[in-house]
Amino acid sequence: MPKYVNQAINDEILEKLSLKNRYSFVNNNLMALLSADQFNYLKKVQKFCMRFEKKNDIVHGPGEDVYDWIPAFGAEGYITRAHTFEMIDVVYEEYGAVADFLRYLAVDNFDPQFAMGSGATVLAINPIYDHHENVPERLEALKDLVTGQSSGCICITEPERGSDAVHQLTTCDEQEDGSFLLNGEKIYNTNAPKSKWAVVYATAEKNNGNLMAQFLVNTSWEGWKCDRVNIPYVDKLYLGHEHLENLRIPKEYILGPVGKGREHMFEGLVPERIGIACGAIAQCWGAVSHAAIYVNMRKQFDQEVLKFQGVGFLLTDLWAKTTNLTLGLLKFCEEYDKKMEKFEEHIPANISRALVASASQFKYHCTNLSKQICYEAANLMGGAGLSDNTLMHDYVNISRIQEIVGGSRQIQQYIMSMSLRQLFKML
Ligand SMILES: Cc1cc2nc3c(=O)[nH]c(=O)nc-3n(C[C@H](O)[C@H](O)[C@H](O)COP(=O)(O)OP(=O)(O)OC[C@H]3O[C@@H](n4cnc5c(N)ncnc54)[C@H](O)[C@@H]3O)c2cc1C
Repeated sequence: MPKYVNQAINDEILEKLSLKNRYSFVNNNLMALLSADQFNYLKKVQKFCMRFEKKNDIVHGPGEDVYDWIPAFGAEGYITRAHTFEMIDVVYEEYGAVADFLRYLAVDNFDPQFAMGSGATVLAINPIYDHHENVPERLEALKDLVTGQSSGCICITEPERGSDAVHQLTTCDEQEDGSFLLNGEKIYNTNAPKSKWAVVYATAEKNNGNLMAQFLVNTSWEGWKCDRVNIPYVDKLYLGHEHLENLRIPKEYILGPVGKGREHMFEGLVPERIGIACGAIAQCWGAVSHAAIYVNMRKQFDQEVLKFQGVGFLLTDLWAKTTNLTLGLLKFCEEYDKKMEKFEEHIPANISRALVASASQFKYHCTNLSKQICYEAANLMGGAGLSDNTLMHDYVNISRIQEIVGGSRQIQQYIMSMSLRQLFKML
């Protein structure tokens, strides 16, 4: 299977751009910033990715289906490390926000589209983890998703309700036996056409956020019809447009009853936004590591192009910003883990509110930076950065959608401005 239509980058540089060398670049940057445990864990995930790439002759080319890789990563516990999962006998030594950040960094450097797809599965894992109540049907779904037996998706967005996610039009009608019937449409749900499990929001009354509920859906059930939506920037991912027609949800699959849906949705937004921020920073490292290797080797006017200030100084700017924001995010993740431990996963409301603002700040800032860095790093590589010879085109493309997913840039700014209002009222 060809990796590219035509080789544009010379053999020597292309070889130097290997995953191994890009990991080395990242590691040499992070070695002094991470604790020994954190660093060793990062290297462990990297080692798995390198072996997996080599063993399966993965070339990140157009003929590969990233969904084929999920079972292998799931078996190693690399779909998510946000939690350990004693309730399904999947126990991890390293888990929490930091472990998941480092996992994401290694996996994203391996393949950004694959990492983003797994990230969407995590959005289905988190609410089941929070609300399984030891119901066997929910635990079965949790195990499938965590161990990579299947992909998952989260269905919030509707064709007519995007940013305004609390005024949904998809309805849920309770039946005499306690089951619900769902009717409506959802759209842009990452992984949906490939998912066995979906977490779906609906409302007992259209446009009424107070009456929202949250359901776990097996996509083989009658009433679930899903077509693929093509997002060319992430052409290997399958996004769904679902038509729900009298989709019956048995009682066991109600994760949040009517009246609890909105709360459950907001509860998931802090980890979701931090996850997107981690992905965005991982993309920055992917782009900077490519550019740093390339411009140290590429010669023009008989000199390595790094030595021209226009190139070298721009790269230092991208590098410094990436390092600094990585440190900020790492600090947030460390504090988040400490608080989760201290409050046994039930962080008090006042702290939680502050975390909502921080999550929006990071989501806003990291995705904004990633958009700039991936583009500029590719630009420093000239034609090579835009060609299909490396992952750079994936970075440029994926960095252009992260500001929309998980709440657009303007919505993060809106949330932050509300926080500023709260802070003022506290004076
Ligand atoms: C690649 C991709 C993956 C996605 N994955 C998922 C998924 O897994 N699950 C899921 O449920 N959804 C998913 N989405 C949907 C995503 O969350 C929505 O696209 C996003 O919330 C914006 O909604 P919208 O597209 O309807 O835009 P709209 O809400 O129509 O927004 C259009 C424009 O108006 C702006 N705007 C809207 N309201 C305001 C306001 N109050 N103030 C200022 N500006 C405003 C927006 O910022 C945007 O610029 C995905 C989308 C993409 C592109």
